[in-house]
Amino acid sequence: MNQTKTASIDGVEVPTGHYIGGRWIEGEQTFETRSPVDWDAGPLALIARGDAAIATTAVQAAADGFEVWGRYSVGQRAEVLNRLADLIDANADEIARVETLDMGFLQESMRLRLVGRGALNFRTYAELILAHEDRTWNAKSQWNTVQRMPAGPAVVITPWNAPFMLSTWKLAPALASGNSVIHKPAEWSPLSAALLAELADEAGFPPGAYNLVQGIGEEVGAALVADPHVRRITFTGSPETARHIGAAAAANLVPFTAELGGKGAFVVFADSDLDAAAKKAAWQFDDSGQVCLAGTRLLVEASIREEFLERFHNHADALVLGDPRDPATEIAPLAHPIHRDRVHGFVERARANGDTIVRGGAPVEASLHYQPTLIEPASNDSEVVQKEIFGPVLTLQTFADEAEAIELANSTDYGLTAIVYTGSRERAERVGGQIRAGLVWVNTFLVRDLTAPFGGCGLSGIGREGGDYALDFHSDIKTLMIADGSTS
Ligand code: NAD
Repeated sequence: MNQTKTASIDGVEVPTGHYIGGRWIEGEQTFETRSPVDWDAGPLALIARGDAAIATTAVQAAADGFEVWGRYSVGQRAEVLNRLADLIDANADEIARVETLDMGFLQESMRLRLVGRGALNFRTYAELILAHEDRTWNAKSQWNTVQRMPAGPAVVITPWNAPFMLSTWKLAPALASGNSVIHKPAEWSPLSAALLAELADEAGFPPGAYNLVQGIGEEVGAALVADPHVRRITFTGSPETARHIGAAAAANLVPFTAELGGKGAFVVFADSDLDAAAKKAAWQFDDSGQVCLAGTRLLVEASIREEFLERFHNHADALVLGDPRDPATEIAPLAHPIHRDRVHGFVERARANGDTIVRGGAPVEASLHYQPTLIEPASNDSEVVQKEIFGPVLTLQTFADEAEAIELANSTDYGLTAIVYTGSRERAERVGGQIRAGLVWVNTFLVRDLTAPFGGCGLSGIGREGGDYALDFHSDIKTLMIADGSTS
């Protein structure tokens, strides 16, 4: 690896440039990243701020890298992906420390859960490509074989929440498919992506197979997705940005997937294990609610409202707000003052709208924390019910029967996840089957098999990722047809 500028983050040296064509490149322009743990301490690091010229350089490098990486056998690809997974595991502590300062993520959670999950993403895709067999069958005297061909350079654009894990989730299938990648992480939390690029370099991708471009979405991000040499775009972020990226993808007829926001229903029936349900409901405040998958609309059967609320408050009261570096902390600061103000704006408008603030409802003095908040809306049309807040703010509504629960669950434009608590298997299948969402959990939350499809309906996204779904997306799928008896 060539010499590059670094920033020292909690004792970890993090490259601040772009990683293009197997080399670190400094930028003339920079932007600053600050820590939500101590915002007023000044910049954590000055990071290269890519522009249209850097985007063009990166796509060219990725096109060159694709010529080599795209021809690697699946065995060779799997070897590099597994090496990267091992390096991620070996550097878990450093990655966790950097992510915590950069984004505010709970350090213990990063170290114990998300870094390992990141490594598992690469291992899972290494396994999947090794296990894959082309499908071959004879029909009408023709031998048909369906093959996956790598598609070309893929632009991977990721958001600021859980940046490390979400980046690995999207990069692993793109690389496993044989595509080269240009990763553009979010400008609010760019540092763990730089560590990942450094580990990719060490894992031994050929130059240009793995590229990282830093910068602002509307600048270098927009230039990347508009480049006509890009063959796939995979995006996680907000519906507003997805519209811009979708327009760029349409102009070049490039397939794109979008994993977007959520407004999940958390449905609790009277026949459920109420304490388990209330505990998981309070857990929706985890990561300060900066979780697309969260069940932020609590829908509770009217007959158990009081009992449920009492248990919910008990669990919510026990949550510990604090410094995300402290293992005892359960509620970390929000990622950015702009975001804290945005979250508070929702709560202020809810008050003005006549919604009832049941608990919380204010920022915490002298930090970026926000009180875990529960709001009982004046109606289902209230903004806090219909719009993604992406902070520790839940709503509470009641329903009389199953039909009303399903109607309320399906009453937003989103459709990413839903959570249902019930003691009845029949009800689980009935209700789960009628909720419009990409993923419905019954009596559980957040567990997910990496080979299962993942994505959203409506405003929550386009396409499905996960397992073979992502490999199909990143491939050009071909049928090879050979006339029976024409070859020996
Ligand atoms: P965002 O849309 O503001 O930004 C996401 C990324 O897009 C960033 O890297 C940004 O720099 C880039 N970007 C912005 N404008 C661009 C443009 N014109 N062209 C190209 N790139 C551009 O989203 P965010 O605020 O970073 O993330 C929060 C959102 O992400 C929430 O809505 C959340 O629900 C969603 N999210 C969804 C999932 C999921 O899997 N469905 C997971 C995590 C987050």
